[in-house]
Amino acid sequence: MPLEAELQALEAYSPLQRMRYSAALVMAAAVQEMFPGARFGSGRAIEDGFYYDFELQRSLTPGDFPEIEQRVQRIIAGKYPFVRDHWSRLRALEYFRSKGQLYKVELIENLPEEQVSAYQQQNDFPELCRVQESGNWPGEVMICQQQYFLDLCSGQLVEHTGQIGPIKLMSVGGAYWRGDEKRPMLQRLYGTAWFTQEELDQYLWRLEEAQKRDHRKLGRELGLFIMSPEVGPGLPLWLPRGVILRETLESFLHQEQLKRGYVPVMTPQIGLLDLYRKSGHWYKYRDSMYPPMIVKPQASSQAGEGELQGEVYVLRPMNCPHHIQIYKNELRSYRDLPLRLAEFGMVYRLEQAGELNGLLRSRAFAVDDSHIFAMPEQLDDELISVVDLVLFVFKALGIRDYRARVGLRDPASSKYVGSDQVWEKAQSAIVSALEKLGFPYTLEEGEAGFYGPKLDFVFHDAQGREWQLGTVQVDYNLPESFDLSYIGEDGQHHRPVMIHRAPGSIERLIAMVIEHYAGAFPAWLAPLQAMIIPIADRHLEYADKVLQTLKAASVRAEVDSRGERMNAKIREAQLQKIPYMLVVGDKEAADNAVSVRLRTNQNLGRMPLADFVERIVELIKARSNDL
Ligand code: ZN
Repeated sequence: MPLEAELQALEAYSPLQRMRYSAALVMAAAVQEMFPGARFGSGRAIEDGFYYDFELQRSLTPGDFPEIEQRVQRIIAGKYPFVRDHWSRLRALEYFRSKGQLYKVELIENLPEEQVSAYQQQNDFPELCRVQESGNWPGEVMICQQQYFLDLCSGQLVEHTGQIGPIKLMSVGGAYWRGDEKRPMLQRLYGTAWFTQEELDQYLWRLEEAQKRDHRKLGRELGLFIMSPEVGPGLPLWLPRGVILRETLESFLHQEQLKRGYVPVMTPQIGLLDLYRKSGHWYKYRDSMYPPMIVKPQASSQAGEGELQGEVYVLRPMNCPHHIQIYKNELRSYRDLPLRLAEFGMVYRLEQAGELNGLLRSRAFAVDDSHIFAMPEQLDDELISVVDLVLFVFKALGIRDYRARVGLRDPASSKYVGSDQVWEKAQSAIVSALEKLGFPYTLEEGEAGFYGPKLDFVFHDAQGREWQLGTVQVDYNLPESFDLSYIGEDGQHHRPVMIHRAPGSIERLIAMVIEHYAGAFPAWLAPLQAMIIPIADRHLEYADKVLQTLKAASVRAEVDSRGERMNAKIREAQLQKIPYMLVVGDKEAADNAVSVRLRTNQNLGRMPLADFVERIVELIKARSNDL
């Protein structure tokens, strides 16, 4: 981030951020005590905490945290004032040079000349802040390395160190100086700070809970998906149980769409670059696309149909242009509209390596993508039914806490296509649909897609984290670029409007579902719904009979026929978060029964097999959260 932007960010600090930024400085002071030769990059407040970048003689490890924390506590307890002073650029340069603080020197040198003088006139920057251990500011700069920490900052600090709340060091990682991979790698030490111990404890609990629910961890443990460095970063490989979960979700979505008048289509995952030039994706989106594939011209002079002529292909980042071709395949009349094309379309996006995050941000994923082509006068009704479908899906997945966000253009940006009038029309259609449904929403500038305003659904999970799911975009622009039309009642050509309806990727939805349920899926989603556990080998035959009965009722079940003890098998099934464990022994075999245990450890006791089948089939059918 350029320094100017950093300063602006600092200027906007809230009281909590001021406190955290102050904590970063105190942490730096503590590190300076421990490592007198340390070089300092810079520090800042971030969401949930703060960091500071250092160049040290050795690598920090979590083993160093207690000592650093102790020193920080001492400085906090001392209630030392943060003393602020304004130096000339020259004086600051001299000072930091004399201390060998090359990174600070660079920060000052990089301040634009006019900025420095402007800041100086306003007596605002460069400002120097120090944590001072003795009473008054000495006037002259007399820095004792052991006792003082003097830093370049924006002055967004608390008054004294005693105002810093409870802190905890969290982790240490690497960060290139100024985010530039050609510059040295510094050590970035992260901490968190809160106003009260209770808030800190809450935060640490949430973090622990998030780690337990982490879909990457659960994905591995429950055998849902893996990533392989040999396949490539951000390219998930789905394991059998993951595929069952995925297919269950897809089939639920697909069936519901069919009921609501969507028609399925299937299109290839690559297309000619020219198609993406025409749609505009190539110009607006190419940084997120895999590089084009050039197919060399063939030697044959008699190139027939289907032969490649030095064509350039791309892996598609979106499905829209393909669906548009299907619309264009026929002459459409007003009677055909609205036409709702639906596909779980695989797309590929070259996300930054550092931003990849399991299924939440991968480079290959399937979008539950629909494109609705409608007459302009059908737009309002279509938007209402689209929102209704999203809400239906949320409800089925047990998502209750959500809001709508209408993403508008950033008036200062020129990245959007289409006229003001068209944008106005699209925005007011979305807002009026939400108004009609009485759905709470917020308007946010700069959150639009490049060809139309966007409606997102933001969902809060049990821990208060935000997930973005479901995007609806109203688009008058692509129908224009591709010259789409339909024949109206008047026999004339008219332009349809397009709605892009994609409640996120299937991958993202699954990540969300895994973390929402912490892997303990309701029976209808569970890849394995029941584990049959024979007490001894002589019960294997009856166990198999139970298995066949369940399979006949379309219940996903297996027999744990390993030579383990029963308790070990129950424990294993619980770890796998399988909803039902059916223990079968002599009594069960004699009575055609099963002893039912839940993964919650609740024991439902012995019941006739037929009763259990009826119970589970009903719960699955109702997509119930109960077991
Ligand atoms: Zn689209």
